Amino acid sequence: MEKRIKLLIGLQACDVRIAEKRVQKERGPAAVQKREEGLAAAETLLREETDKLESHDSLHRETEREIQDLDDRLKKAEVKLSSIASNKEYKAALKEIEGIKNERGTLETAVIELMEQKDALKSTCDDNRKQAEALKQQFDQDRKQIMRDMKILDKDLKKLENERKKCCKATDGSLLEKYDTLRGHKNGIAITPVVKGVCQVCRMAIPPQKFNELIRGDKLMTCPSCARIMYWGEDERYQQS
Ligand SMILES: [Zn+2]
Repeated sequence: MEKRIKLLIGLQACDVRIAEKRVQKERGPAAVQKREEGLAAAETLLREETDKLESHDSLHRETEREIQDLDDRLKKAEVKLSSIASNKEYKAALKEIEGIKNERGTLETAVIELMEQKDALKSTCDDNRKQAEALKQQFDQDRKQIMRDMKILDKDLKKLENERKKCCKATDGSLLEKYDTLRGHKNGIAITPVVKGVCQVCRMAIPPQKFNELIRGDKLMTCPSCARIMYWGEDERYQQS
């Protein structure tokens, strides 16, 4: 019985570590994805800000062109003014010139505003670009580290799986089947130490008579409450496993 229990304790320790490594392995791709999403969000923001700056620039150029057109119209109107003879036409021409000047003034004010806004937009764009670049660098670094960790985990898992195979070979078939069934139904834990009469997994007290039987250790027993295979946890023979 001692040998069988020791094998099961070893097997359980192996399985617990395998489960831990598998959980860690699942975390890797999720962590990469999370960082990827953060980077994508920063890059989208940068694209939006860059688009804003570009359409702002084109509005600026368009307004400058309109001012240029008005200047051309103004020159023509002034030339026309010098060749006018009638008083009525002269007044009309003056009015036209005034109209053009007013329009030009409005556009000049708009250009000044556009130039002021441009500085703020450009600085936001620069900040976003720096942030996106920093995130990209961090992402590349993190991804490499995660990949390295994954490789180490794969190696560890292979080692543990070999260890498990050895344990399984040494354990007799029906006991192994019982262990595996329990493990499948009992949250991965098939064997439990009983310390001071209490099952260490489900925390229920074992009836004294059963506990005495367990201490004698001449047959395979299961916890009356959680049904896991139990052994006397204070038994020195099982301390090293
Ligand atoms: Zn129990």
